Amino acid sequence: MLIDDRDLNSGRDAARPNSASRSRAKQSAASAAPAAVIPPAVVASPALPAEPGELATMHRDVTSWFSGIARDLPWRSADCSAWGILVSEVMLQQTPVVRVLPVWQDWMERWPTPADLASEAPGEAVRHWGRLGYPRRALRLHAAAVAIRDEHNGEVPADFDHLLGLPGVGSYTAAAVAAFAFGQRTTVVDTNIRRVHARLISGLALPSQSLAAAEMRLADSLLPQDQELSVRWNAAVMELGALVCTARAPKCQECPVRPSCAWLAAGEPPPTYTPKGQAWHGTDRQVRGAVMAVLRSASSPVIREAFGTSPADLGFAPDGVAIPLAALHRLNPAPEQLERALDGLLADGLAEEHDGGLRLPA
Ligand code: SF4
Repeated sequence: MLIDDRDLNSGRDAARPNSASRSRAKQSAASAAPAAVIPPAVVASPALPAEPGELATMHRDVTSWFSGIARDLPWRSADCSAWGILVSEVMLQQTPVVRVLPVWQDWMERWPTPADLASEAPGEAVRHWGRLGYPRRALRLHAAAVAIRDEHNGEVPADFDHLLGLPGVGSYTAAAVAAFAFGQRTTVVDTNIRRVHARLISGLALPSQSLAAAEMRLADSLLPQDQELSVRWNAAVMELGALVCTARAPKCQECPVRPSCAWLAAGEPPPTYTPKGQAWHGTDRQVRGAVMAVLRSASSPVIREAFGTSPADLGFAPDGVAIPLAALHRLNPAPEQLERALDGLLADGLAEEHDGGLRLPA
């Protein structure tokens, strides 16, 4: 193993293209939250395989493992459109596969093309986002659909820079779509890939808290030169991180690259920081989510007072919008927390005021 400190790239982007090929080798992956911000700090120099043969063995072991275990996900199907892959990549940021699947299927039936979504109000994208969380992603996908219809003749662009120019599409998503929808050789770096690289190559329990330039250089160094293999490698490493090299309890006995894992060789050193948990109960996010559930189920504007009042006191029948209103009421948010949620949703464009009430954006 060599210490590699080559300055291969500037590291500005979380992912970027390595070739301009446009063959359609669709290999999507189960991703988690991408890391989009790259501070100037660097992580410890990684130790790359010394010999080209060692790297080739790693590529073979991981992709062979992937061939035998890859989950049968609809966005990995050969007939999935580039639009379907783009939607899946956005939904899979921050959200597990099992929750994304039904919503993605609903979206694809409802809006099989970008033009179908673009012809609807943005609020419908938010309504059918359901409980995936971070619903601004739905607004951004709607804006991307409008841009694809108006600026790209309704076709998802294959070019990395054009993908990056779509509203709400960052460097991770652009690279993932270029790879998985168009078969391009791009360096895809999401949370799962970062964790595998950190352990397998750098001997760290966890990657740094924000994406560092050295990680992008490492990912570039590991990417197979062969275009088709590079696509498969991206998907396979992502799957390895999602299924085996998991954040809390890696299943090293099942790992195809266990013999060459730097973290195991180093004696499994503990992480140097405690990952931040995602608090939920009692948070503003929980209240925002409950308010969004009310707006999604409402067919007309909901007056502000209704959000802070028991639906029974309002004389509502115990069905329809009264169900999410009752759920919001059970949270018993402080008045100022409820106001913060309502104002925040208005400011984010997820709600708008109309006829004295709030509704999803028209
Ligand atoms: S051996 Fe364990 S820690 Fe190392 S890459 Fe495999 S799953 Fe991750």
